[in-house]
Amino acid sequence: MFRDGILKSIWQAEILREENDHLQSRGFDVVIAGAGISGLSCAVNLQSAGLSCLVVEAENAGFGTTGGTTAHLNTFFDASYDKVIRDFGLEGAELLAKAGKEAIGIIRENISQLQDDCDFEEKTGFLFATKETHLERLEDIYNASNKVGVKMDYCDTIPFPVPFIKAVKIKGQAQFHPIRYIQGLRDKFIEKGGHYVRKCRVTGYKNQKDGLIIHTTLGDISAKNLIYATHTPPGVNLLHFRNIPWRSYVLGVELDETYPFALGYDMEELYHYYRSQFIDGKPYLIVGGEDHKTGATKDAERHFVKLEHHVRQHFKVRNIAYKWSSQYYEPVDGLPYIGQLPMASSGVYVCTGYNGNGMIFGTLAGRILSDLISYGDSPYRELFSPSRIKPAAGFKKFVSHNGKAVGSFLKNKLLPEGSDLQTLRENEGKIIRAGKKKYAVFKEPKGLLHALPDSCTHTGCALTWNNAEKSWDCSCHGSRFGIQGNILNAPATKSLSLQQLPPSSNSNLSQEP
Ligand SMILES: Cc1cc2nc3c(=O)[nH]c(=O)nc-3n(C[C@H](O)[C@H](O)[C@H](O)COP(=O)(O)OP(=O)(O)OC[C@H]3O[C@@H](n4cnc5c(N)ncnc54)[C@H](O)[C@@H]3O)c2cc1C
Repeated sequence: MFRDGILKSIWQAEILREENDHLQSRGFDVVIAGAGISGLSCAVNLQSAGLSCLVVEAENAGFGTTGGTTAHLNTFFDASYDKVIRDFGLEGAELLAKAGKEAIGIIRENISQLQDDCDFEEKTGFLFATKETHLERLEDIYNASNKVGVKMDYCDTIPFPVPFIKAVKIKGQAQFHPIRYIQGLRDKFIEKGGHYVRKCRVTGYKNQKDGLIIHTTLGDISAKNLIYATHTPPGVNLLHFRNIPWRSYVLGVELDETYPFALGYDMEELYHYYRSQFIDGKPYLIVGGEDHKTGATKDAERHFVKLEHHVRQHFKVRNIAYKWSSQYYEPVDGLPYIGQLPMASSGVYVCTGYNGNGMIFGTLAGRILSDLISYGDSPYRELFSPSRIKPAAGFKKFVSHNGKAVGSFLKNKLLPEGSDLQTLRENEGKIIRAGKKKYAVFKEPKGLLHALPDSCTHTGCALTWNNAEKSWDCSCHGSRFGIQGNILNAPATKSLSLQQLPPSSNSNLSQEP
């Protein structure tokens, strides 16, 4: 496995190109946990600024969402400018617009210094209303975007065979190959003297006289600063209550018609997104959508079925070559959290809450955190402050998400549900009741059972079986585990340990360990 699920993303072949490395030194200016676009963007900037840096990656570069993204580069975001003006003022929205343009500029500049063009291409984006009920919203987005300097123009045609009522086009967007890009960043970081170690997890930290002792699975490391570029910070933190984990589904499709080489977005509440990409000289349409909150579906496969139905309805499909899903985090007030980790020691930083715009915000995190650590300030410090409190913005989402999380915890403790082991089919996972306890059990095709505790190691919430990625997912804060209990997604820092089922429940099946 080279990604946080068993399905292969279209970028997967490139993820395999990772060399072995080992920890050579134990003292640094900055330790960066996570080698996705955020961690490696921070690493390159900080090392180039003359600080000694170590990147510690739990698995391999691109293991997280950067290996499962679709890599549109946008100057307009899931938090639309009309909402940002309402919640953060016109100045805040203008700064956000500047951030988008700056991030695309940083990526373009970085690529110009790499050996590889990373398939970076400037594109026009199209946002289109497919229903009358979307029109007012499109108008609001159009007006607010133009007000903050992200130019949108109404257009009569779109390069996608999807029926629409009204559409806008937005020039100056882009796309690239995310894994070739982060590999380029990693190589540049190492060339500049940076240290990189994989298969090493940061499990926590404590203060010492001159900085921090960082605990990792390869022993303690001292550093003046720690950046959690782990997509959501590990351990228990205030931000977990302000960040809602979601899953999104993607297909890589071969077509019997011309490929749309543009970026597209419909305006469904959970929107579909489109782009095309050449892999080994062959074009593919990449379509995403059918999102749901992590752990909130009983049948993840059904979301692929719905997405495939959507694609076949509008495109002439020859073959579905790739299908995968991945995770993102929705901040309750719409903007990312980049800066000092709330309620943590000084020198501990975080970047999270990117929604579906983490190529931009991860790149920007590199600039912001490098500025905060090197100079103590950044033009974006206040807007993206992880400690900001916006009582009105996002309050409903905050209450609803945390109410559901408490519900999941209580349901797990008070209403123990669970199926009988005999009902478990091959290649299936289920919460099984055996003796007085419940277990999360997966049955392999030849019958071997893997039994795990039924609760997340993070805060004890119930786990849900993900039948698409073959993982155990937690709906509270988005931790995910493989069938043997290995961590796939933070915030968990402790894996689930394999359990022995009581003999009475186990019929004649063999079991691990
Ligand atoms: C399906 C999908 C499509 C998307 N499409 C787009 C798009 O088109 N455009 C866009 O801008 N954004 C998009 N996004 C969002 C974007 O991909 C993500 O926000 C971004 O990749 C996050 O990058 P990251 O580096 O912060 O996290 P990740 O890529 O998740 O990297 C985090 C890394 O940290 C490691 N890690 C975790 N815990 C620890 C630990 N304790 N110690 C050490 N290492 C640890 C993980 O193994 C992982 O490699 C999409 C998201 C999804 C789900």
